[in-house]
Amino acid sequence: MITPSVTDRATALSGDDLPAYVYDLTALAAHARAVREALPPAVELYYAAKANPAPRVLAALAPYVTGYEVASGGELEHVRDAVPGRPLAFGGPGKTETELRRALKLGVERFHVESEHELRLLGEIAGAGGLTAEVLLRVNLPLGEGELGGAALAMGGRPSPFGLDPDQVERCLGHFTADGGPLRLRGIHAHLASGLDAQAQVSVAGRIAAWAQELSDRHALGLTEVNVGGGMGVDYTRPEERFDWAAYGAGLSEVSRRHPGLTLRIEPGRSLTVYCGWYVTEVLDLKHSGGEAFAVLRGGTHHLRTPATKQHDQPFRVLPADHWDRPWPRPAVTGEKITVVGQLCTPKDVLARRVPVDALRVGDRIAFALAGAYAWNISHHDFLMHPHPGFHYLGG
Ligand SMILES: *Cc1c(COP(=O)(O)O)cnc(C)c1O
Repeated sequence: MITPSVTDRATALSGDDLPAYVYDLTALAAHARAVREALPPAVELYYAAKANPAPRVLAALAPYVTGYEVASGGELEHVRDAVPGRPLAFGGPGKTETELRRALKLGVERFHVESEHELRLLGEIAGAGGLTAEVLLRVNLPLGEGELGGAALAMGGRPSPFGLDPDQVERCLGHFTADGGPLRLRGIHAHLASGLDAQAQVSVAGRIAAWAQELSDRHALGLTEVNVGGGMGVDYTRPEERFDWAAYGAGLSEVSRRHPGLTLRIEPGRSLTVYCGWYVTEVLDLKHSGGEAFAVLRGGTHHLRTPATKQHDQPFRVLPADHWDRPWPRPAVTGEKITVVGQLCTPKDVLARRVPVDALRVGDRIAFALAGAYAWNISHHDFLMHPHPGFHYLGG
């Protein structure tokens, strides 16, 4: 739902101030609060910063999240500066020696370890510095149909560069010494799926927690934490819908009740920030080719790469702009399907394909929804050297 403050800003900007990313931080805070309130108090909520690491976004989330998950040395420094003093979990494959050393020096709260080699490296660096690394081992657990509530999605347990196979986790246990060593095993981390609904996410969380519990019991590890990852579904075809956080929260309560010794942690990215951001621009040209209508926008997928990456139609709202003072007829379509493209000289620069519009004219504004996550920060914005968009943070 486009908020009045986003609409106001989108219509107030001049053509040359477009394209623009407009973020409604008040709406973001309200959403994050609702998510937090839907979760059991004991469940820890981390935000996966890679979804949108804008400092204003990180700060707006701060009252509602326990901490932040970072996936590179760059994110680590950036998030630490944007929200100083907040707990950080450092995950992601291919951590360098320099990154690990820096993270240890900064006292990062948790390391999500992705391989036995990485664990050895972390132990060596921590040991040499007289430091202790607090570790969650990332496991790539196989998931069956049962965990997915019948959803025919096979994921987790497939060959993957992420995490350790279950038997490799067992092999890693020998690197943790009972007390005083440079590596302390706190628990298990897994991020196995993305785009699942609440029931499926609860099943996955239950499976990970049960596996961690069984491992802990069998080896008398006394594990106290399990991070069940992110990936809560966002439906780009129904932008008004939300992941059912209430059902998820109730399900996590049940998982916690079964494993009272384990603190549950989740680390969503997309589902927290995607709704707060809008990519606003205007129609520069409108034409027909081979009988099909095309609208050419100021900007494109070099700013909003999401639809190209996910191969979907980015949902949008037309904001009519009535002003027209050229001496020729205004190019327009009514009640037609239109393909909405950007300014790049490549046929891949498509934001939405053959989508119905009531009316669209040159000069009308278009506000793309669900542009608050994996949008600007995943885009190849210097391709073709068009100007960068403006950035507007409303409220907060
Ligand atoms: C990307 C990522 C997340 C966040 O995923 P979303 O789909 O944005 O919720 C969480 N954990 C890990 C390890 C990730 O790589």
